[in-house]
Amino acid sequence: MKKIFLGAPGSGKGTYASRIAPKRNVPHISTGDLFRKNIKEETEIGTRAKKFMDNGNLVPDEIVIEMLKDRIANEDCKKGFILDGFPRTIPQAERLAELIDIDVVTNICVPDDIIIKRLSSRVTCKDCGEIFNTLILKPKQEGKCDKCQGEVIRRKDDEPEIIQNRLKTYKEQAAPLIDFYKNKGILQDFYCNDIDKPADEMSQKVLDSILEFTKDIINPIKEITKQPNEE
Ligand code: ADP
Ligand code: ZN
Repeated sequence: MKKIFLGAPGSGKGTYASRIAPKRNVPHISTGDLFRKNIKEETEIGTRAKKFMDNGNLVPDEIVIEMLKDRIANEDCKKGFILDGFPRTIPQAERLAELIDIDVVTNICVPDDIIIKRLSSRVTCKDCGEIFNTLILKPKQEGKCDKCQGEVIRRKDDEPEIIQNRLKTYKEQAAPLIDFYKNKGILQDFYCNDIDKPADEMSQKVLDSILEFTKDIINPIKEITKQPNEE
């Protein structure tokens, strides 16, 4: 399964990708997380990417592609992977198509007002990048990551005043990619417009839809939907 998740910041894309990947036994590859890891470890890629990220800009295609190409060459990607945050530009999508065949692109569609509400309550683990939400998907222990016990914080770019701008930028960037994959006949739109519901109900809805296309995911779904509100 070589899959791409497209969706605005706050659409839930990262959460779904991180829930589904381990159940399908494939890695969840987030280029944002990879960059943050590289910056933390002060690698060459990290140093090159940092100045763009700090200014809220996309990292140039050559750098992202180099990093991604390395990552998907890893042994753990043999059976497939879920890409989250890549591709973001047409040159990235074209380069990816030269490297491998993508099976399916899941486009998670969420109305703006819901996104704004969601994002302003989003918090992430400083160490591993796991995403939580103070309204609907709280960490089990306040301020602490369920996965690695790292500190859970609100990212600077999840501050409410920056969200509007990120949404606008996302739409401009995503439109050509959506067309690109629509033309290839591998784009699946999923509409999620009742995100006030608890995360487990939402996961069920989205995963049910994904299920229509990937039948073998039936059993994992039951486990996935239990996770968000587990005590
Ligand atoms: P966001 O939702 O704010 O874009 P991410 O964690 O996906 O958060 O990415 C953080 C930053 O990493 C982006 O703002 C961008 O600078 C860089 N980045 C991640 N993926 C890509 C990509 N595919 N192309 C260019 N830059 C990227
Ligand atoms: Zn963590």
